[in-house]
Amino acid sequence: MAKLTKLDDIVSLCKRRGFIFQSSEIYGGLASCYDYGPLGVELKNNVKKAWWKNVVQMRDDVVGLDCSILMHPMVWKASGHADKFADLIAECKKCNTRTRVDHLKDKTNEHGEEHTEHVAIESVSGQNLINKICPACGIVGQFTEPMPFKLMFETKMGANIDDSMTIQLRPETAQGIFANFRNVLDSTRVKIPFGIAQIGKSFRNEVTTKAFIFRTREFEQAELEFFCEPGTDMDWYNHWKETRFKWYTDLGLKKENLRFREHDPDELAHYAKGCVDVEYKFPFGSGDWQELEGIANRTDYDLRQHQRGMRTLNKWYENDRDLSKIELASEAEDYNKGPLSYFDEQKKERYIPYVIEPSAGMDRSTLAFLVDAYDEEEVRGETRNLLRFHPALAPIKVGIFPLVKKDGMPEVARKIYDNLKKYFNCFYDEKSAVGRRYRRQDEAGTPFCVTVDGQTLEDNTVTVRDRDSMEQARITTDNVLNYLRGKLDM
Ligand code: ATP
Repeated sequence: MAKLTKLDDIVSLCKRRGFIFQSSEIYGGLASCYDYGPLGVELKNNVKKAWWKNVVQMRDDVVGLDCSILMHPMVWKASGHADKFADLIAECKKCNTRTRVDHLKDKTNEHGEEHTEHVAIESVSGQNLINKICPACGIVGQFTEPMPFKLMFETKMGANIDDSMTIQLRPETAQGIFANFRNVLDSTRVKIPFGIAQIGKSFRNEVTTKAFIFRTREFEQAELEFFCEPGTDMDWYNHWKETRFKWYTDLGLKKENLRFREHDPDELAHYAKGCVDVEYKFPFGSGDWQELEGIANRTDYDLRQHQRGMRTLNKWYENDRDLSKIELASEAEDYNKGPLSYFDEQKKERYIPYVIEPSAGMDRSTLAFLVDAYDEEEVRGETRNLLRFHPALAPIKVGIFPLVKKDGMPEVARKIYDNLKKYFNCFYDEKSAVGRRYRRQDEAGTPFCVTVDGQTLEDNTVTVRDRDSMEQARITTDNVLNYLRGKLDM
């Protein structure tokens, strides 16, 4: 029977086999920051490649972008992050632990996190925390008044006093796409409907971090802003809902572990027309089901906001580049014809496009793929640990072994390895008993192992062992590449 709680198993496998390490571990670690080891970097790169292939490469209507992490501070004023990107927190009067108010559990309610939008920095609403439990010390109802906590990291840019300024590390990649909307329109032949996609690092000074790489302060997002004509937006919203869900299941996540959670109207940001989370049933946390990706209909909000931001730029200079001293300029009456509008050649019409945004976390997806692929089974009285990765995600595609380290077998195996590694990520191993080498590759999620044995030297055939079924096929050496290409779909 499948085990229910296996995050500890995953964490220990990740460390033992070099998928994921705690950041700065030799100095005791840095809270909620993680490093990807030799197998982990391959896995996460494959997750990103699979996203890019599906969202950009295979489509005619999406182009890519790679923006800088540091952006002009006005970007965050216009997007709303400078004023609103905060979590409401409360401090336990007994143990001084600060917790997100929406993550506090009720004494009488065993269910998990509630979901709320981020709060405005100036708003401190009176929330009733009388029944809430402190997750650190367990005391009930002993909290300070909730207060907003800014989530953006800040740093200083520039050496000279007169031109240095405070800038922010981006808390999402999306704004770089909006800021480049005009550039992409002017430099390519894209026509609405079309999307701009980006994968990159984002930073949030999260209050509550938890569960390994699920919520970290530095993480990677894969975001698509899909621009469409107002009126067609809900069709595109539904299109992207389906497309994104299918991506996860096509890459092997079990359907029963995935679901949509449509946001309630009172949960929606004021500008959003719809928002749905793709949730995965993680083996941790209070409620199991946790967000992997959010898909939102953001209407024309962001582009309109940036048009207002562009109109505010002079005020920013006049106020010593201090965002807190300025207000965003009001919208021009003919905002529809503004610098971030789109001209429809056929209809001879100008408008601000609507935007559908699927926003996925690459670290969270990597964790979901790890958890979902993890398996233990009894084989001849021994426990076999394995990762049943989809071949596209497997860090190593093929292990290549000589059965024994003599009789010319290593030479033949090396030759096969040298050829195959031109096409896939391969691993050559001649140490210890072959059974142990198979187990090591099972644990790394390697879908196939090629073994050179005594028969190879006689008839030029090798065995190809399948990770999941453990069955072995005999293939001629010349045919190994084609055989594996077919099986791996590469
Ligand atoms: P949450 O409610 O979990 O804080 P969010 O709704 O604020 O997340 P979005 O702003 O919608 O998240 O970000 C889109 C995606 O980016 C999320 O679905 C998640 O996969 C990923 N993500 C967001 N914050 C983090 C984080 N701190 N660590 C890892 N991934 C994150």
